[in-house]
Amino acid sequence: MSKEVSLILSAPSGTGKTTICKVLRGYLPDLKFAVSHTTRDMRKGEVEGVDYFFVSQNDFEAKINNKELLEWAKVHDHFYGTSFQSAENPLNNGYDTLLELDIQGVKALRDMEYPGIYILIFPPSIKELESRLRKRGTDTEEHIQLRINTGKKEIKKYKMYDYVLTNYVVEDTVNFILAILQAEKSRAHLYTPTSNDIKDLLQNGVD
Ligand code: 5GP
Repeated sequence: MSKEVSLILSAPSGTGKTTICKVLRGYLPDLKFAVSHTTRDMRKGEVEGVDYFFVSQNDFEAKINNKELLEWAKVHDHFYGTSFQSAENPLNNGYDTLLELDIQGVKALRDMEYPGIYILIFPPSIKELESRLRKRGTDTEEHIQLRINTGKKEIKKYKMYDYVLTNYVVEDTVNFILAILQAEKSRAHLYTPTSNDIKDLLQNGVD
């Protein structure tokens, strides 16, 4: 047994993060997703309160002013933010938590020394990223260029993260994340006793 952790994941748009997170959560049903607030429109297939809390600009600003947000950022002209409630509630109830953040969010959390496992997912190449964004067919040329430029900026900030994974095949990437999570959760300082006798032993003092 070990204490619960926050898994903080970033990836340039088009890297396959949504699929990776979906497969990962299939393996780890107890990994709770910290649902963010956003001012962007809901996309087809998205569900309120599951993918995001979709809010107006005014409501978002109110959340900033009321200090309800752990972090927030403007990404591609829209606001995104993680509330303290979304990030902390699962942890307080004994669950590992998954936060999907852009680099600005990661920088904010790093600056406040927010504990977590920070993972950045890379595309195999910029060329491949461009080709995936075009294949997706959901964006205009202008938006594709915007996403590529943001992606390049994110890649350059890789040193903010603990781990960098290249997403060649989703299943492999998910397996790497599972291995990282297992190793990180096995760190000695996260250990909590699994039996009363070990608990008693440790309560009597550690050499
Ligand atoms: P999308 O609109 O494609 O769902 O997300 C756009 C970007 O916003 C992605 O890079 C995603 O990781 C990031 N994002 C989503 N939620 C949050 C959040 O709460 N805070 C921050 N800083 N970024 C977020």
